Amino acid sequence: MYIRRMFAQKPCVFSLEFFPPKQELNWPKLQTTLQQVKGLQPDFVSITCSAGGSGTGGVSTCQVASYVKNQLDLEPLAHLTCIGTDRRGVEENLDRLFAAGVRNLMLLRGDRNPAVAQFRDFEHASDLARFVRGHYGAFGLSGACYPEKHPEAESLCADVDKLKIKQEQGVTHLITQMFFDNLYFYRFMNLIRKQGIDLPVSAGIMPIVRRSQIDRTLALSDAKVPEAFHRLLVRWQDDEAGLYSAGIDYAIGQLRDLIEAGADGVHIYAMNNADVAQRIHRGIADLLLS
Ligand code: FAD
Repeated sequence: MYIRRMFAQKPCVFSLEFFPPKQELNWPKLQTTLQQVKGLQPDFVSITCSAGGSGTGGVSTCQVASYVKNQLDLEPLAHLTCIGTDRRGVEENLDRLFAAGVRNLMLLRGDRNPAVAQFRDFEHASDLARFVRGHYGAFGLSGACYPEKHPEAESLCADVDKLKIKQEQGVTHLITQMFFDNLYFYRFMNLIRKQGIDLPVSAGIMPIVRRSQIDRTLALSDAKVPEAFHRLLVRWQDDEAGLYSAGIDYAIGQLRDLIEAGADGVHIYAMNNADVAQRIHRGIADLLLS
């Protein structure tokens, strides 16, 4: 089913994100993880890709998406980037994904990396959207958005202006960058609605459950850390088990607030951890039913 249609059928669409393992030998582990989360009945499962547009090495995005669709009977959302590949590479990826039965794509530019060759066939995700809509009309298209603005954008308003181009070029659903303070999400939603962006938006939440995630994830995402979350990180940083459950509780608190405030969807960056996904789901399941 096209993801856009799910929003007409449910008050809050629930989704999970996974990444392809870097090494083939970890593929059975991810398969087990995906089997474990099938019971949560996520409305869709998104699978990330490298800046080159495919997997991150051993296992491709298409391979994982195909497994989700054909072995687990869940709806995959395959990520596709354009900065690290040319038009031909994009076409090959699209053909492979279509043949595997994938019908929903998350179209992304990918992060600029000075150490890696960049292609100019598609400058922005909206250029990729125009191409896919024109040549591969059978795909439903999702795109990324940034409640605290994209790091390269001059301002949030400038970024939202560019976001409007994604909508004009055929993107019909958005997923946000992670954020730890819901106020940024509510401010962003007000702004995009005022600017005429009426697409359903899934709020992306990442539970921080390991010390290694703290610096890496927070630095990469540019997300601001509210005082309450900062206190939590300081308090539990040297207690593995304490951080694990405090991080999950914090994410559940954020998610309950978002669902109660009427978020179209919630998207969990599950980091290939079935236990995290299950605990989070348990913490919000009552709200997803209502
Ligand atoms: P764009 O929409 O092209 O935006 C990039 C910048 O250009 C922004 O500052 C924007 O304001 C500006 N801009 C946009 N359109 C125009 C235009 N037409 N003219 C001028 N300026 C414009 N990366 C991966 O490599 N793999 C993944 O699987 C992946 N998944 C992601 C999932 C989510 C939910 C999110 C939020 C991000 C993900 N990323 C992923 C990261 C993403 O690739 C980076 O954030 C990247 O820097 C921007 O991608 P974009 O698609 O938002 O780019």
